[in-house]
Amino acid sequence: MRAIDLHAHLTPQCFQREVLAGKTWHGMTSAEGELSNPRNAWTPEQRLADMNSLGVDIQVVSTNVAFYQYDQDVATTTAIVRACNNEVHQMTIDYPDRFAGLATLPMQDIPAAIAELERVMVQLGFKGAMINDQINGRTFDEPEFLPFWKAAEQMGAMLLIHQARPTLVTQRTTRYHLPNTIGNLVDRAVTFASFVFGGVMDACPDLRICLAHGGGYTCFGIGRMDRGWQVRSEARVHITQPPSAYLKRFYYDCLTHSEAALRMVIDTAGADRVVLGTDWPADMRIDWPVAWVLGLQSLTQEEKELILWKNLERLLGL
Ligand SMILES: [Zn+2]
Repeated sequence: MRAIDLHAHLTPQCFQREVLAGKTWHGMTSAEGELSNPRNAWTPEQRLADMNSLGVDIQVVSTNVAFYQYDQDVATTTAIVRACNNEVHQMTIDYPDRFAGLATLPMQDIPAAIAELERVMVQLGFKGAMINDQINGRTFDEPEFLPFWKAAEQMGAMLLIHQARPTLVTQRTTRYHLPNTIGNLVDRAVTFASFVFGGVMDACPDLRICLAHGGGYTCFGIGRMDRGWQVRSEARVHITQPPSAYLKRFYYDCLTHSEAALRMVIDTAGADRVVLGTDWPADMRIDWPVAWVLGLQSLTQEEKELILWKNLERLLGL
């Protein structure tokens, strides 16, 4: 039995050293990076001790979403992401059996994003990248992104889709933590739909996309997307199959906080499409992720093993 976590974050030490000394880091301050969470200050060794207590063998580490910085000028964002990615790379060098890397990229400039993805995949041995659900308000069906999807497909990169604030719910209400607890799931369903209705999945048949937070409302809402595709011509502009035909083209992490919801994702997309994602070290993480998966009554032993490690071992060569 192993456990490989695709959804685990890092607030880089290179950022913390500067901002905790009262300086700025490429324009970023100590208000960013979720430093109020003490786990975000932990060293790799403290992280490993916690992974040992949780039973997690490997984290595929991504930097905190605060470091997307897509609204900065591209030179600044490129400097930020290279420093972040280099720190993750060092973790994978120091502990090659315990850490793998997902990059952050300057997605506001597609040639720059492709260049950094190629650097981390070819030179640093990364497994892919984590990106937002949209880039400065632009959804992923926009043609400007197609060269990036083609490049990621060609490189075999796994793209973990993960929102940053604000989510779509933020426009409606900022109360009760709803921009996170509902907004993350809304954003993810829009992302699935943008990829599918926009024709991206047809244009890139081997593109590897993992939708964080169980894909949000994707699996629950797929019937209505199919109905829209049947009755509305504008829903059929780019695709000749119903949206549900694309569910098994995506991967989903298990971060649902609900056995019934996880069961639905498995039954809808297939157990070979679901992977362990914990959101370590956020307060919205699964506290005891391996124990939680192993204790689920409605999952078979084979389904548990696929989710905990077999799928990612095969997909990422870990
Ligand atoms: Zn997360």
